[in-house]
Amino acid sequence: MEKLYELICSSDNIVFFGGAGVSTESGIPDFRSRDGLYSLNYKYPPETILSYSFFVKQPGEFFRFYRDKLIHINAKPNQAHVTLAKLEKQCKLKAIITQNIDGLHQIAGSKNVVELHGSIRRNFCMKCRKPYPLEFIMQTANIPLCECGGMVKPDIVLFEENLDEKALRDTVKYISAADMLIIGGTSLQVYPAAGLVDYYTGDKLVVINKEETYASGMADLAIHGSIGEVMGGI
Ligand code: NAD
Repeated sequence: MEKLYELICSSDNIVFFGGAGVSTESGIPDFRSRDGLYSLNYKYPPETILSYSFFVKQPGEFFRFYRDKLIHINAKPNQAHVTLAKLEKQCKLKAIITQNIDGLHQIAGSKNVVELHGSIRRNFCMKCRKPYPLEFIMQTANIPLCECGGMVKPDIVLFEENLDEKALRDTVKYISAADMLIIGGTSLQVYPAAGLVDYYTGDKLVVINKEETYASGMADLAIHGSIGEVMGGI
């Protein structure tokens, strides 16, 4: 903790790269932990349900899983989200790059958040592009339909879909310019997002994760613990 604090004090261009583990302490399960979504006994594995081809072939089944497992409407930011927002306010942290779709960083007050995999809080009609709020998805039974008859799709990146080009460009820009990179709460197993951390060339790479990941071995500081607890102690 002392070393983490020292590294943060001596940096003014920090970038945070995070994943589902950042929100587990807010009560949102991740994918790969023991009690994560991959351990659920569903008819199809989550990667299948959350793929574009499944979404268009079986939208009813997709939305059943989506509403039940991916939307946590009452989840609140935890100490990790709050501390990152505080570091941005202090002009130390320049950007958060998140693979999460829950929008909790913005609720905590962070302004510069790159959402690599989109957000459950934005939805749009696939035919006329009309935007819809999250409440619309939650209040509709079965498949959410636009008034034009088109299907409303959450603005999230499904397996088989490409990442948004601007989000990719911004990520590369922020990570390559960072003087400190903190990677937290991610197994770094979802590509191409995970590979983007390789753009960091500095000497203050910190990994905060419950389990070891491929980045732990390269890190200047690796902390195995709960990110909310660790960040809350800063
Ligand atoms: P993952 O499930 O593959 O890995 C999560 C990692 O976080 C694991 O290594 C786990 O040990 C660690 N972890 C869990 N809780 C932690 C905590 N409190 N403190 C520190 N470490 C913790 O998640 P991923 O790498 O983000 O990749 C999975 C994909 O799942 C992402 O693309 C993301 O979009 C999506 N997802 C998002 C949410 C969300 O928005 N909250 C939830 C589930 C899945």
